[in-house]
Amino acid sequence: MDATEFRKRGKEMIDYVADYLENLRERKPFPDVVPGYLRQMMPDEAPENPEKWEELFSDIERVIMPGVTHWQSPHFHAYYPAANSYPAIIADILSDAIGAMGFTWASNPACTELEVVILDWLGKMLDLPPNFLFSSGGTGGGVIQSTASEATVVAMLSARTMFIRKMKEDNPEQEDTAILSKLVAYCSDQAHSSVERAGQISMVKMQKLETDEKSALRGSTLSEAIERDQANGLLPFFVCATLGTTPSCAFDNIRELGPLCEKNGIWMHVDAAYAGSAFICPEFRPLLNGVEYAVSFNFNPHKWMNVNFDCSAMWVKDSHLISDAFDVDPLYLRHENQGKMPDYRHWHIPLGRRFRSLKLWFVLRLFGQKGLQDYIRKDVQLAHEFESLVRADDRFEIVAEVIMGLVCFRLKGSNKANENLLKAINDDGRLHMVPSKIKEVYFIRFAICAARTSARDIHFAWKVIKELTELNFGTKINQQS
Ligand SMILES: *Cc1c(COP(=O)(O)O)cnc(C)c1O
Repeated sequence: MDATEFRKRGKEMIDYVADYLENLRERKPFPDVVPGYLRQMMPDEAPENPEKWEELFSDIERVIMPGVTHWQSPHFHAYYPAANSYPAIIADILSDAIGAMGFTWASNPACTELEVVILDWLGKMLDLPPNFLFSSGGTGGGVIQSTASEATVVAMLSARTMFIRKMKEDNPEQEDTAILSKLVAYCSDQAHSSVERAGQISMVKMQKLETDEKSALRGSTLSEAIERDQANGLLPFFVCATLGTTPSCAFDNIRELGPLCEKNGIWMHVDAAYAGSAFICPEFRPLLNGVEYAVSFNFNPHKWMNVNFDCSAMWVKDSHLISDAFDVDPLYLRHENQGKMPDYRHWHIPLGRRFRSLKLWFVLRLFGQKGLQDYIRKDVQLAHEFESLVRADDRFEIVAEVIMGLVCFRLKGSNKANENLLKAINDDGRLHMVPSKIKEVYFIRFAICAARTSARDIHFAWKVIKELTELNFGTKINQQS
């Protein structure tokens, strides 16, 4: 493909993408394919000779689209959103064209410099304490990680290394492995599965602590756990608190957890993967109070802030805690300006890094802070609209307070009845949702996901849910409780 053809095909693809996104209501959100469907449509080997563009292009609809789960469909209400916007898509084209690796400042100065400025912008939008920002002139700052999972791993591994180092300062005779075997990290029983996984990767004990009736981890629970574990000779070193849990969008009480962590020399990492975007609205910002106690904080603009995957923003108050934890310094990565700007290779696990701040920059400028606030508020409003439809029907109940763009609801009835209802919904195909379970109560999660979701889609969803409820249960449902 030469430049002339690239100009032509690139424009065709832009048209295809716009048509795809604008007409998604016509496609069922969840694909109707069986495992292995795609291999049957493909030759066994890659083509010997170059093929024609037209042949490839027509295979998008033939081979790929039948197996796509359409996360950007206004009828997709599963998981949490995966952000998507035209400005971010365009910025990624530019990033791909520049195609430079930003691992050190010298390897692509604009990549590092833009990320430093944009993460300060974003941190200010969230009203993060100034010591998390580069502009404070201290040791704080932000970095774009690929995912929240990776941010948690980076925080936990850094905390582990720094904790072991400190223990050895006090007693140099101790073996690393002896300390490691006593380390214990905490999260709530509602934390994302990636937190448990970070514990496995870090080879530390993970304690999942019980949450209160609002699914929040409280200070008294953590305090008891710390005392119990210390009495048993263990070394508490890390807490991952969640703001906006995955099952029900609950908020751990970081104003209670924070001082406890500080007092006990424990690294508090705050995972606000989904809910973090809402903190740009002053009415939601109080939920972030207590972040001043955190050593590290993370949220995903790629979930709810119009920045396409991958873009997970992480801040630390003392960047040396991360950058010094795993420091290797081969000659080919050194440069004469070392130390004046961050070398982001020390802030994450891979070496190579994409120019991801471009898409954040495009989105912040083309939406503006106000446009992004409006976007969040629209989704929260739609969630409340769905909530009131559910509440108005006495066959159903709401199982968790609706705070952001997630509604957790269920039929008043057995878990089995709700499992059957969800199966009927997903088999029907006009909507897509996933379940969750808290303290043995099974429920259905309805998340406002796609950017183009409107009130009309909310009413459509409720109509389909009611129709399938009547079809499957008739009027029997109330007797099942
Ligand atoms: C979605 C989610 C994650 C995982 O996000 P990735 O960026 O895909 O790793 C982690 N924590 C919470 C609370 C989430 O909702």
